[in-house]
Amino acid sequence: MAQREGGEGNRDGATSTPRLLAGSCQCGAVTYAVADEFSYALNCHCSLCRRATGSAFKPLAGIARGKLTITRGKDALNILGTEDWHDARCSLCGSLLYAIVRDGQFAHVTMGTLVDTPSIRPSAHIFVGSKAEWFTITDDLPQYPEHVVRDTG
Ligand SMILES: [Zn+2]
Ligand SMILES: [Zn+2]
Repeated sequence: MAQREGGEGNRDGATSTPRLLAGSCQCGAVTYAVADEFSYALNCHCSLCRRATGSAFKPLAGIARGKLTITRGKDALNILGTEDWHDARCSLCGSLLYAIVRDGQFAHVTMGTLVDTPSIRPSAHIFVGSKAEWFTITDDLPQYPEHVVRDTG
């Protein structure tokens, strides 16, 4: 893909414009742009994420809500939930694009809908206590039964 403005070319250093990543639903009716500034990325194995995606787990990347912008098809968004806590899907193809969580402060972008490659990689498996029996985790990332719990050493 061609170089985007606001990428590495910003050399005068006055402000660092974040690289923008494109994302899309399956049918392309809804597209979004998100800053490549995710705070965390996780693979969630909870039953809700499995059913929402039809997959073994949902790779999600968390970012402040204001850094995610719908660039096309806002009226095609199907918002399931409340303003501050919902899943956003394309109403035409059903793709789960992101979830608004944490009292509306954060967006959890479904990494599978990213068109561009983010800098971040998932750092852990969460809700492994709810993992599908038929799926085996074969990487060395840390696993948590539920949410990430920091070691308080
Ligand atoms: Zn769609
Ligand atoms: Zn989950």
